[in-house]
Amino acid sequence: MKKLAVFLVSTFFAYSAMSQDFSKYFSEGSLRFDYYHTGNSSMEMMSNDEILHEPYWGGSKVNLIDTFDYGNYKFEVYDSLSNTLVYSRGFSSLFAEWRYTPEAKIINRSFSESVIFPFPKNTVKVAFFNRQKNQLWNKQYEVYINPMTEFISNKLKIDSKNFKIHGENLPSKALDIVLLSEGYNQTEMQKFMKDAQRFRDYLINCQPFSSMSDNINIWVVPVVSEESGTDLPGKNVWKNTVFDSHFYTFGTERYLNTVNNKQLRNAAANAPYDQIYILVNSDKYGGAGIYNYYSICTADDKYSDFVFTHEFGHAMAGLGDEYYTSDVSVEDFYELKSEPWEPNLTTLVNFDKKWKSMVNDSISIPTPPETKFKNVVGAFEGGGYVEKGVYRPVFDCSMKSVIYNKFCPVCTKAIINMINFYSK
Ligand SMILES: [Zn+2]
Repeated sequence: MKKLAVFLVSTFFAYSAMSQDFSKYFSEGSLRFDYYHTGNSSMEMMSNDEILHEPYWGGSKVNLIDTFDYGNYKFEVYDSLSNTLVYSRGFSSLFAEWRYTPEAKIINRSFSESVIFPFPKNTVKVAFFNRQKNQLWNKQYEVYINPMTEFISNKLKIDSKNFKIHGENLPSKALDIVLLSEGYNQTEMQKFMKDAQRFRDYLINCQPFSSMSDNINIWVVPVVSEESGTDLPGKNVWKNTVFDSHFYTFGTERYLNTVNNKQLRNAAANAPYDQIYILVNSDKYGGAGIYNYYSICTADDKYSDFVFTHEFGHAMAGLGDEYYTSDVSVEDFYELKSEPWEPNLTTLVNFDKKWKSMVNDSISIPTPPETKFKNVVGAFEGGGYVEKGVYRPVFDCSMKSVIYNKFCPVCTKAIINMINFYSK
């Protein structure tokens, strides 16, 4: 009994920072922790790289602790003296996807990754967790960071102007998106500024972003590339560009990415940001969006409006792909015996935790793919790259098909919840 009492007391005090504690634990700017994520399909490890003090903090000063529990990874920041949880965030990464490719069964790879959080006043403990197949978290790595150490550089490695092209709110009370230029040469920077404004309109004219546009800031950081365009490894086309982006990621032609994380973060540091968006000067169809990692798409494809918002759904709201027919390089990405963390996909293992409350009682679960159910919320089989065992909320949605401005009610709710989180 006595032991229980002690446990209760310690739990009561071990806890998370309250919102008014921001200035108690944090000062100006952000701390960026760069590390290498190394492994293969069966093992992974993290190792320290650089620590930087960046000038802006774009996140909330109130909502410091993650309430969504999305992502293949999460990190938690503790004030080391009091053991108080002062910041946490879930995220995913290209490494997490690569681990599900056939290549990861035969070789090891390292990816550069970064996390940022408000710059701490005192020594912090940063703990990294990976999500197991059963969805439970496993602590993977822990590192102590003393903000006073002389090895933390506060010099911007890419020094660029920022331009705000949308929004009036303080960065701490808005979703801040930084748009970065990739594959625009010196003569094309005016084109980039025009493209950025066009993409701003794609976002602001798409629901639910339209209704919440007062809660969104869009920043532009122009960075010049030596050459125009991007790499097309499958066609032996190679360009010297600032973020070294490329199509054919993991062998899928339309899958556009960059692994030059440090350069990307160095450019993004020129504006306050919650989300990084890379705009690639190309007219080829493609893109990518990874939760709290980055979004990337091309500027001049005829479906760019759709791709821009679809990829942002992944990166900003943690939405999963609702399609199941296209070729993707990942295999068995979803474990059918547990609920995926994505808010718009379910295995029906624990549908109560998903969007069951949004389904009318008269709709059967699973919902048959019949015309009469075309416009209702249910649970339709097929999603997350497989035809069987993963269910999506509606017949069609911007997370399933190439249709701009058609996020389903479940995806819409997830986006609204996330914008609200950034706006407090
Ligand atoms: Zn949807």
